[in-house]
Amino acid sequence: MAAKRMRKSLHSRRPWIAISIALVLAFFGWYTGGKFSFDEIFSGIQQTSLPLQGEDETFVYYLDVGQGDSELIRLSNGTNILIDAGTGSTSEALSRYLKNLSIDKIEYVIATHPHEDHIGGMKDIVENFEIGSIYMPKVADSQVPTSKVYENLLGAIDEKGLGITAATAGTIIFEQDDARMEILAPNSEEYSDLNSYSIVTKLTVGEKTFLFTGDAESDSEDEMIELGYDLDADVLKAGHHGSSTSSSLPFLQAVSPQAVIISCGAGNDYGHPHKEVVDRFTEIGAAVYRTDLQGTILARCDGSSITFETDLPSV
Ligand SMILES: [Zn+2]
Repeated sequence: MAAKRMRKSLHSRRPWIAISIALVLAFFGWYTGGKFSFDEIFSGIQQTSLPLQGEDETFVYYLDVGQGDSELIRLSNGTNILIDAGTGSTSEALSRYLKNLSIDKIEYVIATHPHEDHIGGMKDIVENFEIGSIYMPKVADSQVPTSKVYENLLGAIDEKGLGITAATAGTIIFEQDDARMEILAPNSEEYSDLNSYSIVTKLTVGEKTFLFTGDAESDSEDEMIELGYDLDADVLKAGHHGSSTSSSLPFLQAVSPQAVIISCGAGNDYGHPHKEVVDRFTEIGAAVYRTDLQGTILARCDGSSITFETDLPSV
């Protein structure tokens, strides 16, 4: 009887305990200016929430997708561009992440090249979002991948009635307001490695420029130099996760970036980024940002300056 009464009184107290905790948390949320959400307090993770886009700024997210690549560009007019989509292991998380950024439509999707760490999450993207154009490199017949991930992506694109635009260097992907995006590579129809088919794009926002290189290696870099492209850029996404097969010194000198972003996973099997390449970035005077150490990195650009925010939530 006593035990039963005890249980009953505990039960009847429970709602009051819950209400008290909620009130304390509500006060804490108000006191910290809403910086922490209840979920974050409960899980003990103090993540800053994703900043909302200002009207006059372009946001470039270098998304932390582990050992892979994915960059999201949001122009100030609301146009979205996604370059690569990370691996299959973060596939669902990436779609959720983009939904959390209130994205429904992606006007331009660029699959730099058909390796799993770049297109693993792309099937879900195609299925979950309204898509404008999709760009891919044209690969020599003998090198067309037979992987499931590639075939499934093609299947999803086909099922949605979308086409694929073969990337050609010199093509302007878009030009709107003060923003412009141009394809600088691939410049050959055949490379020894799939990486070098990577679509390289240059984004200009006002006076500022961003270069996205996929996994393009030094043979593609040499071609871009020889063909006389204006490679000069303020921010460079390091080729091939900071591997020494990319980011040759002549290329870095041509780009002369203020900042370099390396997208790679912590403790990855490839030793990315390679030390000599990180040293090279430092030697040319660039600030180095790394997704393995700093999570998702955001570059905000108003056309005349760029500011970086680090340690944003990983995908
Ligand atoms: Zn890669």
